[in-house]
Amino acid sequence: MMSKILIIEDEPAMQLGLRDNLEFEGYQVNVIGDGKEGLDEIMTDEYDLVVLDVMLPNMSGFDVCKSARSLGNNTPIILLTARGEEIDKVLGLELGADDYMTKPFSLRELLARIKANLRRYTPDELKSSSGLQIGNLILDFDAYKAQSSVDEQEIKLSHKEFEILKYLFENKNKVVSRFDLLENIWGYEEQPTTRTVDNFIARLRHKVESDHNHPRVIITVHGTGYKMII
Ligand code: CA
Repeated sequence: MMSKILIIEDEPAMQLGLRDNLEFEGYQVNVIGDGKEGLDEIMTDEYDLVVLDVMLPNMSGFDVCKSARSLGNNTPIILLTARGEEIDKVLGLELGADDYMTKPFSLRELLARIKANLRRYTPDELKSSSGLQIGNLILDFDAYKAQSSVDEQEIKLSHKEFEILKYLFENKNKVVSRFDLLENIWGYEEQPTTRTVDNFIARLRHKVESDHNHPRVIITVHGTGYKMII
C-alpha cells in the first residue's frame, strides 16, 4: 500500500523539492507550511510518517512533536533541524521524535531514513509485539490485555470495554454514533439504552485519558456520539 507522508515545512523551495521527490518515490504526500495547522493535521488525518521542520510559523517543530506525543499520537516523526540546534533535545525522550536530519541534507539520505522509519513502524509489528497505544493504555486486542503506558501496570478492562475501544479504533478519527456502538457492541439481544453507552465511555475515559474531564482521545461529538482521535 502507498505510504502517506505529511511534510510540515514553510520554505517554498523545500516544500517543492520534498514533494516532488517523495511523490516520485511513490509516496502520497501532503504539505503544510504552518506549525499549528500541521499539528491539527497530524491529529485529524492518518499518516504513516511526518517530516517536520523545526523553524515554522505559529508553532515550532519541537512543540508540534511534543504536543502530538502528549496527545497520544505515535506517527513516526523525522525532524529537520538547522545546524547547531539542540540535538540532545531533539533526540531526548521528552520530545519523542524518531529521527532527525540536519540541514542542509541530501535527499537521498532523507529518503533512506524515511524508508527505515516506515519499516520500523508497520502496523502489524505495532499490533503483535509492542502493543497498540491508545491514550494512556497499551492494548493487546488478541490477548485482551491492557497496561498503563505511564507505569506499565496491568489495567483491568472488561470484554465490552475492549470491544468498544477496538470499534472506536477501527473507526478512528471518524464520528461513531451511540447507535453504531449499541448495534455493534451490544447487538440486538441485549437492550441497553444510549445512556449505557455514555456510562461505558465515561468509565473508559478514566483509563484512557490523562484527564478524564478534558478528554482528548475519546471526544464527544455533541448530539451524535463519539470520535477517537489517534
Ligand atoms: Ca522553516
